[in-house]
Formats: sequence, C-alpha cells, structure tokens
Amino acid sequence: MANSGARLGLFVFVDAFGWELLQRNAFMRDVLPFRCPLGTIFGYSSTCDPTILTGVLPREHGHFSFYRYAPESSPFKLAPLLSLLPASITGRGRVRHHISKWYKRHLHYTGYFQLYSMPFDLLPHFDYTEKKDLYQPGGIINGQPTIFDHLRGRGVPFFLSDWRKGERENLTAADEAVRDGKLRFAYVYLAAMDATLHQYGPESEEGRAHVRWYDAQLRRLLQTAQQHHGEVRMHVFSDHGMTAVTRSSGLMGVINGLGLKFGVDYAAVFDSTLARFWLLNDRARDLIPRTLAGVQDGHIVSDGELRHWGADFPDRQYGDLFFLLNPGVLLCPGHLGLTPLAGMHGYAPEDPDSVAMYTASHAPETPPKRLEDLYGIMRAEADAP
Ligand SMILES: [Zn+2]
Repeated sequence: MANSGARLGLFVFVDAFGWELLQRNAFMRDVLPFRCPLGTIFGYSSTCDPTILTGVLPREHGHFSFYRYAPESSPFKLAPLLSLLPASITGRGRVRHHISKWYKRHLHYTGYFQLYSMPFDLLPHFDYTEKKDLYQPGGIINGQPTIFDHLRGRGVPFFLSDWRKGERENLTAADEAVRDGKLRFAYVYLAAMDATLHQYGPESEEGRAHVRWYDAQLRRLLQTAQQHHGEVRMHVFSDHGMTAVTRSSGLMGVINGLGLKFGVDYAAVFDSTLARFWLLNDRARDLIPRTLAGVQDGHIVSDGELRHWGADFPDRQYGDLFFLLNPGVLLCPGHLGLTPLAGMHGYAPEDPDSVAMYTASHAPETPPKRLEDLYGIMRAEADAP
C-alpha cells in the first residue's frame, strides 16, 4: 500500500536496555536524537511493565513479585508430591520448565508463569500473582486500564507484539503491520537482550552485539513505517538496566540455619536481589531483623524507601520485611535461581546501573522522569488528532 499520510506513534520496548548501556553505544543517535535517563521502579519486570502500561505505581496496580505468602489460597497444594520424585530428575531446568507449563495450563493462567527454583515443598505456602496476560483486557490485578484498553476503547488501529514470541518473529510481524499504512499506534516488544546481559554481563561484547543488531533491525522498521505513513514518531525505552554481578550472597542458608520453622514462625521468598519475609510470631519478629542487621551484603528497606519507590503495599501482601542486597551481590542460591549469573537487575532504583532509558525521534513536551511517565507519552500519541 502507498503512503496513507497518517501519523504513527511507534513504541519499542527493549527489556534491560539501561541508560548506562545506551551511553556506551551509539545506538540510533542520528534518528533518535532525544535521549534521557528514565528512573526505574523497585522490583523486576513483573512490576515495571504494569507501571509502564498503566502509568500508576505498584502500590496502586498491585503487581510486584511473582510469589506472595498466601497458604489459604495457594493453587499449589499438591506440589509437595513432586518432591517424592528423585531430585536428579526434578532438579533439571528442562523438567521444571515442563512442570511449569503443565501448571500454567492446569490453572488457566494466561500471564507469564514460571515456577523458577521455588522448592516443591514450599509452594503450598504461596500464591502466584501474574495470573493474567497484562496486555489483554482485565490483565492488571487491581483493574486499572492499560494503554491498550484505552486504544481499544477509542477504536484506534494499533499493533501489539506477542510477548510469548521471539524477537525475530515480533520484528517480522511489526514490519508487516506498518506496511498497512493505517496504524496509528504500534508497540513492539523485544525482550531477548535481558537474557544476553544476565548470561554475559552488561559490559560484554555479546551485549554490544545485541545493541548493534537492534540498531540495524529498528532502522529498517522505521524506514518501512516512514514509507507508509505521513509521519512516524519513534520512541524506544526500557524497564530497567543491568548491573554486573561481583559476588553471591548465601543469605538463604543463613536464614535456613536459624532453627525457625517455615510456615509456622516465618515465610520468605528469596528473589534474585531481595529477600522478603513474613514474620508470623514474636520469635521470628525478634530473630530475623536481628540476624539481617548483621549481614553486610545489603540493608533492611525502610518504610520511607518503600513509599518513595511506590512499593508500600497497604496490606503488606508482598512481605512484612524486605532485605535488599547491595548492587552487584546476587542472592544465590535463591528461589529464582540456583546458579550464578554475570548480570542482574532489581537493586536500588537510584543505583546508576539500575536506571532505564528513553530515546525518541522528537523531544517530548515533558521529558519522562520515571517509568510511570511513559504512559502520558503513549496517551499523547494515542489521542493525537
Ligand atoms: Zn532479567
């Protein structure tokens, strides 16, 4: 189809493409001259992405981490039976992946679902939070509309990648979609560099090569979009950066060694950079904070920090007490992984390596400061005359 003359807002989400990495690479500088650091949100993509899509903070949309202590509503009551199988089988990543897939089907979850390394015998203490596809209607826990609900409601023709698919497939689908010429809004989802940077680290040649590949692919997409639209405004942004891992913390072993009973005295989730505790009695309320105060690898997150980061959940559903590791220290082994990695994210949002980025073909009226500000930029494109 020939050029339709319409204006297209072309948004590209690149997981883990932080401000530091952008500074070190020339990535599309000539076509995306506007660039700025973009503050991230405390937590992982599971809380960053809902903030990008709704423009509200975690305490409002209700998304933070995947596991939350909820023994009465846990869908994993029978999971301990799996621990009767030999660990040599169930310990394998591929086997756990298949068990995750079975659970996802069985529970009719449409969101991103992975059991990770949560031990089977602990699963009945927990509920899983991301049950629904964030990008589809009703995907947000507390019911806030996303930018896509807005586009659907207004009947704006838009393209949205399938987050379950790989980058090549998503780029091919986007290329086909922009050739139609009738689109007003496009959201391209690219998430594979996150795995590259976890495996090789944020300063690796593999990371630089991935950035160069994005540069070539996205230039081509922009050119194609320009051939079929009167004007294309391109916006590329990320959810968080990536920090080089320098050492592992054995905090889980320290807590397991306290002689407290899981599910009676306390419950805990050991995310990759954050340990979250539910203190169920006075013994745990005394012993766990006292133990953590002596751990040099991180600090107990204050209520003031949680408020500032928008993660002060009114019912403390994600934990009574958060212990955040220092940048570069990986909680390993933990419930999200058992083996060391070269890069990790989920440290203090203010740490330079945590900071996300925003870059665009046109300077926005108000430059975005933190992830929630992207929503206003997307709304402006969606509502453009
Ligand atoms: Zn990641």
